[in-house]
Amino acid sequence: MEAITIAENEKFLRQKSKKVLFPDNDLQKEIEILKEFGRTHEICLALASIQIGIPKNLVIIKTKTSDLKIMAEKDWLILINPQILSQKGKTSSWEACMSCLPHVSLVERPYQMDIKYQNEKGEEKIEHFEGFVCTVLSHELDHLDGIFHMDRSNQTLQMNLEERALWRKEHPYKVISKDCEFEYKPIEKGLQK
Ligand SMILES: [Zn+2]
Repeated sequence: MEAITIAENEKFLRQKSKKVLFPDNDLQKEIEILKEFGRTHEICLALASIQIGIPKNLVIIKTKTSDLKIMAEKDWLILINPQILSQKGKTSSWEACMSCLPHVSLVERPYQMDIKYQNEKGEEKIEHFEGFVCTVLSHELDHLDGIFHMDRSNQTLQMNLEERALWRKEHPYKVISKDCEFEYKPIEKGLQK
């Protein structure tokens, strides 16, 4: 299975994903599909289910660290109906996306986030996140609103996977400010040229 790309179906990816209502008989199967995708795509750090054709508020995160180290599968974060309660600080990094190859964009993201979500059983959780995982979370939560990294950037480049691997080494994740209030600007939907 491959991720849906903007070249194939931008309209689908631009829609807002739907809230998961418990009990949801398809959910466990869909989580397994996400995990399987994560297992078979090493380059994939995280994924929103809409990227593989399931427009639900469902996200999987495989890494928390800026060295892009993949966690053991039992530690992967599964976030259902995630909502940002607060966000602070600023970081920036070059982002890529399974759905938006070959684009990479320099994007500012929060450094700290408090997120409310439900786990696989539907139990509500509130968790504090800090560091690179906030970049990943913020990117994935944007997918649930049909927003891509290019929409949040005024520096977007195009490169292939090999070039991107080199680029990533030279352009690591960077903390700009840890203590400012972070506020997103509203996004004009529509792919920037
Ligand atoms: Zn993405």
